[in-house]
Amino acid sequence: MKPAPFAYKKARSLDEAVALLAAQADARLLAGGQSLIATLNMRLSAPALLIDINGIGGLDRIEAKDGTVAIGALTRHAQAERSEAIARHAPLIAQAMPHIAHPAIRNRGTIGGSIAFADPAAELPACLLALGGEVETHGAKGARRIKADDFFTDLYETALGAGEVLTGIRIPAATADTRTGFAELARRHGDYAIVGLAATARAKGKGLADVRLAYFGVGNTALRARKAEAVLESGDVEAAVGALDLEPHDDIQATGAEKKHLAGVLLRRVAKQLMGTQG
Ligand code: FAD
Repeated sequence: MKPAPFAYKKARSLDEAVALLAAQADARLLAGGQSLIATLNMRLSAPALLIDINGIGGLDRIEAKDGTVAIGALTRHAQAERSEAIARHAPLIAQAMPHIAHPAIRNRGTIGGSIAFADPAAELPACLLALGGEVETHGAKGARRIKADDFFTDLYETALGAGEVLTGIRIPAATADTRTGFAELARRHGDYAIVGLAATARAKGKGLADVRLAYFGVGNTALRARKAEAVLESGDVEAAVGALDLEPHDDIQATGAEKKHLAGVLLRRVAKQLMGTQG
């Protein structure tokens, strides 16, 4: 199927993109196009204008500085996958990258597009949530930062304003006591997950503190399992599985009950990674 007709403009600066958004309410930003073009082709979306942001300079930087890793919105998944700074300072993102789609899609798809699109089964929104990161935006009123906990509001809905561009994400850089875990179950490698789990914690003696468990594929957004987080800090993995406060709906991949079961399977696997009893 072909998309409905649309106009196309290429923005050369953030301000130009914001001005174009302000001038046309029925516009969409075009980044890697790996989700947007599919929705246009299936006529799930028919915007009047596409604003191409690929010509805006400086939005594809990865920088680790002052305890924070900043990743620009136009950073391609493949660029992040190969980045030494991400491998070293943001290991959870490095763990998740190979699970995102396939190499051809990772060559074009962007970090900003993935976070802005907010697919509930996508890896990066859950990673951002597990890391306690922030989203950076730019709009007519200037720049602002939104905490990941406040950003993903509903199915494909975010706190991004209609006239705002997502410019990047910021996450705390890993320290010596940072522990991360990542696992997902998909029908084929590279497919969207049936259920997935991204997790972070801090090693405290022989146990864990500050556990953050962010599931994907189990609700309208990436979701933290807050009760299980608290229980896992006690070291009792089976009690944490029992405390999983998730109510997944049925979808085309699995029933809600199957997803809840798989969430427990993943928690056992990820707990081993966090506790260092599995590489
Ligand atoms: P686009 O498609 O260009 O845009 C997506 C949406 O985000 C649009 O609404 C657009 O307006 C908005 N947007 C983009 N950039 C910005 C910005 N900077 N500011 C504000 N809004 C913005 N993803 C996964 O996470 N896991 C998978 O397993 C997976 N599998 C896939 C399999 C296939 C076959 C395909 C085609 C895609 C898959 N994807 C998967 C999606 C892929 O990761 C996309 O790259 C990503 O979701 C969107 O990034 P993009 O840069 O292509 O965004």
